[in-house]
Amino acid sequence: MSVKTAQNEAKKLREIIKISRAVVSSLDLDDVLQKILLYARELMETPAGSVALFDARTSVMTLHASAGLSPEFVARDHWHVEHGGLTQKILDHQDLFIIEDTSQQSFFNNPLAISEGIKSLIAVPLWIKDSIVGILYLNDFKPRSFAPSACEQLGILASFATLSIVNARLHERTVRLACTDGLTGLFNHRQFKRILAQEVTRSKRYSSELSLVMIDIDNFKRFNDTYGHPCGDRILAEVAGLLVDIFREADLVFRSGGEEFVIILPLSGPDEAVWAAERACESVAALSISWPGTDHPLGVTVSVGVASLPQDANSEESLLEVADQLMYQAKHQGKNRVHTLKSVNL
Ligand code: GH3
Ligand code: MG
Ligand code: MG
Repeated sequence: MSVKTAQNEAKKLREIIKISRAVVSSLDLDDVLQKILLYARELMETPAGSVALFDARTSVMTLHASAGLSPEFVARDHWHVEHGGLTQKILDHQDLFIIEDTSQQSFFNNPLAISEGIKSLIAVPLWIKDSIVGILYLNDFKPRSFAPSACEQLGILASFATLSIVNARLHERTVRLACTDGLTGLFNHRQFKRILAQEVTRSKRYSSELSLVMIDIDNFKRFNDTYGHPCGDRILAEVAGLLVDIFREADLVFRSGGEEFVIILPLSGPDEAVWAAERACESVAALSISWPGTDHPLGVTVSVGVASLPQDANSEESLLEVADQLMYQAKHQGKNRVHTLKSVNL
């Protein structure tokens, strides 16, 4: 090996080390992809480029990093893969895709890309196992060719991009697992405390209403004792699913304990909260759950306490306490009912 070749190889190696450092330096996917894009742009000596991720389920590409492109071009931050279009061609090709002169290619017909002045490009599909999860694009504003040796190195860069996507997905999954309850898929108690504190602060700052609905399943232990723990689990999952259906998208449903649920209703006062709580209570009571080995469907009821800021409490602690006490009062007064301070004082 000549000294020059050895020097070149050493330089390439240093570049790869730099990139691998970038990949592990941040858990922010877009940040890592942006760094990889800049290295790729330097390597291929192209003035522009982008990285977009592909969702095979929806056939949508989403832009995650870009450089050297106009604000109008990057404003289109997601797009459907068009049949017969450039992205479809790249996905079908499955390998490094080069266009040395876009004016010679009929499928290069996207008006935005044409008015951007893209005259040549190189696209690298990013693979995880046997599916393409994204594309790294490098663009030039003049027709040109790309050196095969640089293309080879670009392949290595692309595998770093893939690695960072795998990393980000693992991280996202870990975060989700730490926040949610495995049985019901709802946010857990820890999340409840965190979000309640945030919402109470927000409600006080903007003098907006905030309600809390606290729910406890009645005689839940009996399901476990009579039909076994899996039956109890099934009841929990059914009630959780129903609560998610009943409350609005903006409301946040948590599993706060064993057979206890709590719902935060931002920007909702007592009337709305009680209305939703009554509906939840009635809908749970209307559930009929079949269970192997029983000849009759199982029925379930809940006791519910509702409290609102600022009407019933003035702090996070007092809001929790009032809702909790009201829920226990509902239990003591016969279960399968909703209690509010108003209903208690009548
Ligand atoms: P009450 O009407 O007064 O609320 O009575 P209850 O039986 O609903 O309440 P209790 O607190 O006596 O019992 C709750 C039971 O919930 C006890 C616990 O073993 C059970 N439990 C807690 N978490 C789970 C779970 O994840 N799965 C199942 N199957 N049972 C659970
Ligand atoms: Mg309980
Ligand atoms: Mg209970």
